[in-house]
Amino acid sequence: MSGISENILQVRSLIDTAAQGKRGVTLVAVSKFQGPDKIQRAVDAGQRVFGENRVQEALLKWPRVKARYPDVQLHLIGPLQTNKVKDALGLFDVIETVDRQKLADALLKEMEKTGRRPDCYVQVNVGGEAQKSGVSVREADDFIQRAVKSGLPVKGVMCIPPVGENPKPYFIWLKELADSHGLAAVSMGMSGDFEQAVACGATHVRVGTAIFGEREKADS
Ligand SMILES: *Cc1c(COP(=O)(O)O)cnc(C)c1O
Repeated sequence: MSGISENILQVRSLIDTAAQGKRGVTLVAVSKFQGPDKIQRAVDAGQRVFGENRVQEALLKWPRVKARYPDVQLHLIGPLQTNKVKDALGLFDVIETVDRQKLADALLKEMEKTGRRPDCYVQVNVGGEAQKSGVSVREADDFIQRAVKSGLPVKGVMCIPPVGENPKPYFIWLKELADSHGLAAVSMGMSGDFEQAVACGATHVRVGTAIFGEREKADS
């Protein structure tokens, strides 16, 4: 239970070492399935950027915390259904999982209606896995170009490499993709591989269990 602030310090120090003096890697603390007390401990430790993968769960957990700590930033890191776009835009500061045209269209439409324009990252299914979301590697360039041209605030890219494979080639590929489109944000790396991701140019790492310990429910 305890040790969250120590874990955060430890992860930050590993990030700094992997970054070799480069600044500006953001630690996104992934708090999915974690309760309010653990989240509060992370906030008390100075953590301000968090990731959740379900809109419904985040709606239950975050409005109160965000009201109390206005500098807290919330990233959506899980799949977004178009019928949740309105809720997501109301709560999240970054949508990391723009993965299909229908969603890009729905986000843009709602942004035009509300004026709320959280940063968007395009998720790429770098391993071509049937069970994972993300635009395909083949479509990534066209998709990003179209989304930018349409006026969506595309600021970065995100990926989840295949489990059990060396993630490095995927990390290198994603960083090159971001660079080739002039996108600043590269979200990659989780508890098991964030140091490698940082070494490959990640600007955002998404770390859950290394901070909070095991989740109370299995991930879907
Ligand atoms: C759960 C999750 C993470 C964090 O995974 P850990 O292995 O617990 O660090 C990162 N990214 C995404 C998209 C996730 O769903």
